[in-house]
Amino acid sequence: MLDLAVTPPKPKVIAGAKHDWELVIGLEVHAQVSSQAKLFSGASTAFGAEPNHNVAFVDAAMPGMLPVINEFCVAQAVRTGLGLKAQINLTSAFDRKNYFYPDLPQGYQISQLYHPIVGEGEVLVEMGEGVARRVRIERIHIEQDAGKSIHDMDPALSFVDLNRTGVALMEIVSRPDIRGPEEAAAYVAKLRQIMLYLGTCDGNMQNGNLRADVNVSVCRPGAYERFQETGDPSHLGTRCEIKNMNSLRFIQQAIEHEARRQIAILEDGGTVDQETRLYDPDRGETRSMRSKEEAHDYRYFPCPDLLPLEIEQEWVDEIAAALPELPDAKKARFMGDYGLSDYDASVLTADLASAAYFEHVAEGRDGKAAANWVINELFGRLKKDERDISESPVSPAQLGGIIDLIGRGDISGKIAKDLFEIVYTEGGDPAEIVEKRGMRQVTDTGAIEAAVDEVIAANPAQVEKAQANPKLAGWFVGQVMKATGGKANPKAVNEIVAAKLGL
Ligand code: ADP
Ligand code: MG
Repeated sequence: MLDLAVTPPKPKVIAGAKHDWELVIGLEVHAQVSSQAKLFSGASTAFGAEPNHNVAFVDAAMPGMLPVINEFCVAQAVRTGLGLKAQINLTSAFDRKNYFYPDLPQGYQISQLYHPIVGEGEVLVEMGEGVARRVRIERIHIEQDAGKSIHDMDPALSFVDLNRTGVALMEIVSRPDIRGPEEAAAYVAKLRQIMLYLGTCDGNMQNGNLRADVNVSVCRPGAYERFQETGDPSHLGTRCEIKNMNSLRFIQQAIEHEARRQIAILEDGGTVDQETRLYDPDRGETRSMRSKEEAHDYRYFPCPDLLPLEIEQEWVDEIAAALPELPDAKKARFMGDYGLSDYDASVLTADLASAAYFEHVAEGRDGKAAANWVINELFGRLKKDERDISESPVSPAQLGGIIDLIGRGDISGKIAKDLFEIVYTEGGDPAEIVEKRGMRQVTDTGAIEAAVDEVIAANPAQVEKAQANPKLAGWFVGQVMKATGGKANPKAVNEIVAAKLGL
């Protein structure tokens, strides 16, 4: 497991106020479950289908239709819970959350209020080397998503698309353990990474498949510690909830603005009203959506159409046994087995495709060299072309071939970069390219000696300078490299130059 000497980062203190204030943040993350069918129907969840084409009778709430639980969605929630080291509840139950909305034709959402399927867990959110915060998960419940009302297609009419109605969501509720905007974004990013590893959510924030309600409050230094000691939430400030954020950047901005707004109210002698707010990225402010008084009374009650959800420990164990290696473990292994730095291991385990690519290159080779080539050369080059690792024109075998040529002393590091560019743009076997284009490094000392003699003979003034100041010998090395088209073995050139200059 990841052996991080975890130091929690300091809470964010907002500058520019009369007093010091600290932030307290808790997130409710809605993650669409990766599943081909909906939570209670066999209708497809495919994104971008014709409006109202993926709608079963039960999704449209036709009279007499009954929901039937999709076992795969339940397994996905269990898998996610296990990935967050959480308690799995063998008995959970569904409740009706009643409200009327055109995109929710049932008139209620089926959710899990009283008995969620997943209980307490935790996520390690790294905020730099050796600095991490443990964010506790309070619960994960499964529920139905709503459809989509469309108000901008016609000046007089509204439309509804029920394709998303009934798609399974996981709501992942954190404890108020997050202490700053960057941490909040890093927490969502970490959840996303874990779910992508698990294959339980595609993490597509742009499509709204991962979105967060962000609860923010501010308090004076020391108050949070008193809350932690006593568990009494009255030590914390009143929170506001910013709804439906689907960008990491906006999450950070919204928290920053919301904290400043609350601080201004408090320093003015006012009180913060608990309310639901919306973030307007164009204006950079949060706006009230509804106050506590206007809050919905959802009249939750157990859903009479569904039996309590009973799962067996054996089934949970099977899912646990088949869990993939998760990001923290993979990172620790990359550091341990390949000798990678914390940073390199983080970059290479950011997503599964990068990790697999690296491991393929590193197989039977020096791990650090492989990491260097993947991160610095390949990722840098792909970024320039706005390409993803899955679209890399250089295969792991080709990149490995280049590294082998350097290792055998056939080419210098500098020539290897030219070779990489050729393989990247034209393809081909690196060893063959080196032979065909005469890129092989000159290790023949006789040839190098001749080149060094020539440069020395042509530059007597430089020779004197270098003999007085050996640091200037590098100039000769540069000249010899130039004269040999970069193909001379740099180590040999260095040695021969030093010897000939009598250094
Ligand atoms: P409710 O029961 O009203 O839904 P919860 O206590 O379940 O409220 O909290 C909902 C979310 O708000 C959780 O993610 C929690 O961490 C967060 N939260 C609770 N209190 C605070 C607070 N004072 N400041 C910031 N976030 C909070
Ligand atoms: Mg709650």
